[in-house]
Amino acid sequence: MAARILGGEAVAREIRLEVAAGVEDLVSRGKARPHLAVILSGENVASQVYVRNKIKACGEAGIESELIRLEGERDGGRVMAAVRDLNRREEVDGILVQLPLSQDADESEVLQALDPEKDVDGLHPVSAGRLLLGIEGLRPCTPSGILELLRRSGIEVEGKRAVVIGRSEIVGKPMALLLLQANATVTICHSRTRDLPGVASGADILVAAAGRPGLVTEEHIRPGATVIDVGIHRIDREDQVLDFFGPDSKQAAAFREGRPVLVGDVHPRRAAEAAGILTPVPGGVGPLTIACLLQNTLKAARLRRGLPARP
Ligand code: NAD
Repeated sequence: MAARILGGEAVAREIRLEVAAGVEDLVSRGKARPHLAVILSGENVASQVYVRNKIKACGEAGIESELIRLEGERDGGRVMAAVRDLNRREEVDGILVQLPLSQDADESEVLQALDPEKDVDGLHPVSAGRLLLGIEGLRPCTPSGILELLRRSGIEVEGKRAVVIGRSEIVGKPMALLLLQANATVTICHSRTRDLPGVASGADILVAAAGRPGLVTEEHIRPGATVIDVGIHRIDREDQVLDFFGPDSKQAAAFREGRPVLVGDVHPRRAAEAAGILTPVPGGVGPLTIACLLQNTLKAARLRRGLPARP
């Protein structure tokens, strides 16, 4: 049976509306509007699109935003200077450093320089420590978006076997910790895992965040499992488009017309035969990441105004 496709747009919209209501609640109490600053450095085209979408979503939720655009090859020092300046500015509640940075910048050093209270991407060591210890804090946006999707779609996590493919600081590790806190039994797989299909196919909930186009096929999926596809890749080879989507697909037609075709870490055609529920790419995890960024910005603003994290 073909999998049910679980898009993220509806849940993302629900979260964005809640954030907008939370922002108005703050303003009606005479508090300043939340304010997000985004640092964009380098020429990465995908980053430019992500940042544009984030700024637009802020506007729709009533959150003030500003973009600090650093152009040029060697701007590591300027990123650090921008972070320090934003840390000092009282009206700034959230700082997002869009990754990847230019080659000369040390990402870890930049993230450590952030004021943890303004760390809306949840990547500062203090945020990571709070997550590990289960203390209230700012969680990385993509994994917390995925947990929101599971919860709000009525997909039970407690007691389930969850497998996360990928152990990055931004997705894999925090994802595993959030699933653990939600009482799943969690396994983390990575590039050195032996017998990935054997391990992954034990999962009731499989999260694919390996950064490898179409890696996850029916061999990795227990029949009926929930499969969350975090990956996002632009495909530039016709044979791949045909393999992933088939010759009669709208993606194949789009490719022939020169339009961009995206695929995740899950092989869409082969996985759909095995999975019970599958998130699409695009339109799955992506919208939730942005919604959770807004949620974190509101949370940071509330905490900085001496209010509880949630209304
Ligand atoms: P990353 O490259 O930092 O980490 C990938 C992880 O996968 C590593 O831990 C590696 O060990 C593991 N891995 C690689 N190949 C593997 C294999 N063959 N088998 C098992 N494990 C393997 O990537 P990331 O930053 O975690 O991102 C993962 C994917 O998610 C990327 O495609 C990225 O573009 C996407 N992403 C999407 C969103 C979103 O909002 N939709 C947000 C963040 C990342």
